[in-house]
Amino acid sequence: MLSILASIQQVALQNPNNPAYHVNNDSLTYGELWHLSDCVAQYLMELDLKRQQPIVVYGHMSPLQIVAFLGAVKAGHPYVPVDSSTPSERLQFITQSSGAGLVLTTEEVLTSFKIPVVAVKDLLAQTKNAETQPGAWVQDEEIYYIIYTSGSTGNPKGVQITANNLAHFVAWMNENFPIQAPGVFLNQAPYSFDLSVMDLYPALGGGHTLYAITQEQIANPKSLFDHLAVSGTRVWTSTPSFAKMCLMNKEWHQQLMPELDTFLFCGEVLPKSVATELMLRFPKATIFNLYGPTETTVAVSFVEVTAELLRHYEQLPIAPVSELNLSLLETGELIISGPTLSAGYLGAPDLTQRAFPTVDGTRIYKTGDIGYEKNGYLFFGGRTDFQVKLHGYRLEIEEIEKKIENLAPVSSCVVVPVKEGDEVVSLCAYIVLREPLVEKPFQMTKQLKSLLTDYLPSYMIPKKFSYIDTLPLNINGKVDRKRLAVLEYV
Ligand code: AMP
Repeated sequence: MLSILASIQQVALQNPNNPAYHVNNDSLTYGELWHLSDCVAQYLMELDLKRQQPIVVYGHMSPLQIVAFLGAVKAGHPYVPVDSSTPSERLQFITQSSGAGLVLTTEEVLTSFKIPVVAVKDLLAQTKNAETQPGAWVQDEEIYYIIYTSGSTGNPKGVQITANNLAHFVAWMNENFPIQAPGVFLNQAPYSFDLSVMDLYPALGGGHTLYAITQEQIANPKSLFDHLAVSGTRVWTSTPSFAKMCLMNKEWHQQLMPELDTFLFCGEVLPKSVATELMLRFPKATIFNLYGPTETTVAVSFVEVTAELLRHYEQLPIAPVSELNLSLLETGELIISGPTLSAGYLGAPDLTQRAFPTVDGTRIYKTGDIGYEKNGYLFFGGRTDFQVKLHGYRLEIEEIEKKIENLAPVSSCVVVPVKEGDEVVSLCAYIVLREPLVEKPFQMTKQLKSLLTDYLPSYMIPKKFSYIDTLPLNINGKVDRKRLAVLEYV
């Protein structure tokens, strides 16, 4: 199997002028991507870094982000993508706990670090000629990227993905989806989410063009749909939540995006209502529901959504039962095996051992997802723990609770997901304060939310704060989350 870098190199040599990446008015050809990433690699190789020492890459959608990613791996280092929306304390935690040797930036960063911070732009101004040798690149079982996800211990955890994991994932994508014809791939997910890997590497390895959508564009519907209309997107990858948001605009249909013929959804339940509406609006497109966690390289299974599936089932399946890498434990928990299993969590051997045990000689990943079988399909049936998906984001409720409990005015806190049907639509924090409230509750809420912005990304900050005298306990003496969840509906 060709490594992902070797595939991109082939494209760069054969079609150096082909566009690799577009965002706003910026773009990058394959020739430029290859050359500039060689320059980054050369710069890194001249520093006194240990082989495989992580490189944090900080910023948002931009051609230089992709250049920095490839530059790091060409010099033998895994990259740790951190989106510029990340609060400074979290960025600092990730940088320190990953043991990173350098922070490469494509945007201004205000956090102070103990390690060097280098703007990719400045670095490129210094390094003009460079060519890396494949022997220097990240090899087979070495770590290629590390993506941090929410952690129940109170801090995010770094999932380590090897070059082989990624090569297997990209090969699987090419085998199973109609993505080979030349075309444009939409890049909606920021690079700190592994969903972005689903468009990044199949697109670059196949010589396609990535069209990136920024958070700023997403926040401005006119700009978003103007960009979508001119993007020429053929392959759409996003969370179902993002498509659901786009569907609110009646103008979003096949005429606006005539080339669109493939929808790839992953990361959360694909509601039937979303799939049904998409089928009506995009008659040319095939819709796929993919399933998988960051720990097994983006996705491991899929079903094609058909009118028949929508008619016969209350919920869309996530895999056929024949899927070899996916099975159920007696407890109903879904487990995953196969060549895309992560090397584990960085610097957390106990956590890794618990999540990736070896059973009957086979290394598996315990997903924490509940699955069930019906008529030859596997369905997603919820979680064994307190992980939730909110608007497509993966959150550990316990991480949020710990961060709130660390705030000076707070004595204890329980966070409860607020649901509409099966979908989590927001979070509510129940808080016991150290001192009785003297001000109005909304003033305290404002203060606490403002304190939290240093520690949690905005999507992890609960919408509603409720102040109570004590947390209700159940018969076992544990916090009665069920009672609090019911309270939310009163
Ligand atoms: P992440 O690591 O952010 O990709 O989140 C992985 C988790 O998202 C899985 O363990 C599931 O709980 C959930 N998930 C991913 N894909 C699907 C899907 N197609 N349907 C339901 N849940 C999903």
